[in-house]
Amino acid sequence: EVRVRFAPSPTGALHVGGVRTALYNYLFAKQKQGKMILRIEDTDQTRFVPGAEDYIKESLEWIGIIPDESPYKEGEYGPYRQSERKGMYAQYAQKLIDEGNAYYAFDTPEELDAMRERLKAARVNTPQYNAITRMQMRNSLTMSEEEVKEKIAAGEPYVIRLKVPIKEEVRLNDMVRGWVMVHSSTIDDKVLMKSDGMPTYHLANVVDDYLMKISHVIRGEEWLPSAPLHVLLYKFLGWEENMPQFAHLPLLLKPDGNGKLSKRDGDKLGFPVFPISGVFPGKDGNPETYSGFRETGYLPDAFVNFLAFLGWNPGTEQEIFTFDDLVQTFAIERIGKSGAKFDIEKAKWYNQQYLKAKSNEELSEYLKQELEANDIAFEAEKLERVCGAMKERVTFPQEIWTEGKFFFTLPEEYDEGVVKKKWTEVAVDVLSDYKAELLKANTLTADSSKEILNNILEEKGVKLGQVMQAVRLAITGKGGGPDLMEIIEILGAQNVADRIQKAIE
Ligand code: GLU
Repeated sequence: EVRVRFAPSPTGALHVGGVRTALYNYLFAKQKQGKMILRIEDTDQTRFVPGAEDYIKESLEWIGIIPDESPYKEGEYGPYRQSERKGMYAQYAQKLIDEGNAYYAFDTPEELDAMRERLKAARVNTPQYNAITRMQMRNSLTMSEEEVKEKIAAGEPYVIRLKVPIKEEVRLNDMVRGWVMVHSSTIDDKVLMKSDGMPTYHLANVVDDYLMKISHVIRGEEWLPSAPLHVLLYKFLGWEENMPQFAHLPLLLKPDGNGKLSKRDGDKLGFPVFPISGVFPGKDGNPETYSGFRETGYLPDAFVNFLAFLGWNPGTEQEIFTFDDLVQTFAIERIGKSGAKFDIEKAKWYNQQYLKAKSNEELSEYLKQELEANDIAFEAEKLERVCGAMKERVTFPQEIWTEGKFFFTLPEEYDEGVVKKKWTEVAVDVLSDYKAELLKANTLTADSSKEILNNILEEKGVKLGQVMQAVRLAITGKGGGPDLMEIIEILGAQNVADRIQKAIE
């Protein structure tokens, strides 16, 4: 059975990279009729941020991801928060110690610093606690058994470290990257259990993946360097047979492809890099506001479609995929190795496509709220028509209101550029006739209002191009917008006449 997990640490706002990881896990699980598990990795209490877990939950729900097992939907393998599994890890650390694959280390932070300084002075670029240095430190490999027991009995703080083998080629077959080979001399004797009795990420992650029967680990490329260490743990714990298959997802890159997309890029480049808005403590403890795709006006299905293409492609020309299409088509084999550029223009394009596809009725729900907030009464049928006229021209639903306000209120100001160029005597003359003729008409449609205008123009020997923009200006205040005759039909004769009157007087 396919069982995958999304395992975020609640250390702040989940950035789009994390949401993409969750999405790929979910798509894969659904396609294989498997399960997707949400596991909260909160063993590092120093980095715990209140509200971060709710943020994760809400972000996933917004894009339609409801994990099959999670802290909110317990399955057979709970609890689903690592802090609540605290008691489960010690026995595995003990097994590693008993079998000589891990050891106690009593070094104080000062001693560790001193070791790093010594190594730096000897020009070692990346100081490590490893097969060589461990012999100069205070741990159970350099002490008698008695000494170790005494220290533990006396309550001296200790950690448990993995004893990385000296000469070993560690290999794993990644579903995205193929064979990855690492020599054990480059791997640190990582801490598995901290002095507070909490497991580190590495131990808890591997133990939980095993206990939760995870079949595939799909996660960001930043975890690739940890993978060989995890392979060693599976081996030492005797779980090689049950080792999940790994798939490390390509990095998300800045729009210009220069470097990793960072949390700061959103502010710098003026677009969201978080799924939903939130407030979290910043580095200095002051609250920082993150703006989200949701609040910017992205539709969840457009956002999902955009996210899916950040690192994956179907190998065809098709770009629009509903959630179900994605479930059908998604394939780990088609995930790229190279970083995926975060192209916000593409996100906007997707949003336009999904917005256009929405019914006028659906869109008018949104507009209704704006109108109520602004105390403007309007007929439901007309609201829908406004949505129909505007939806092809906007990127976000709220722009139907901001760009289409002229449907509901007489123009307050007139586009100056157009006034200068197009507000001519001829135009004013035509407009005043137009006003009078419109008021005479019984029923007004886009076609009839056009005919009325054409008749006036013909009579006066004026070309449409000479006055068109001025007519638009008088009615909407703007130089551009949806089809003018459609606007006139929606507004009705009296309303249009009032606008013309206001403009020409
Ligand atoms: N807790 C890790 C994170 O925050 C999980 C990494 C993994 O999926 O193994 O991303």
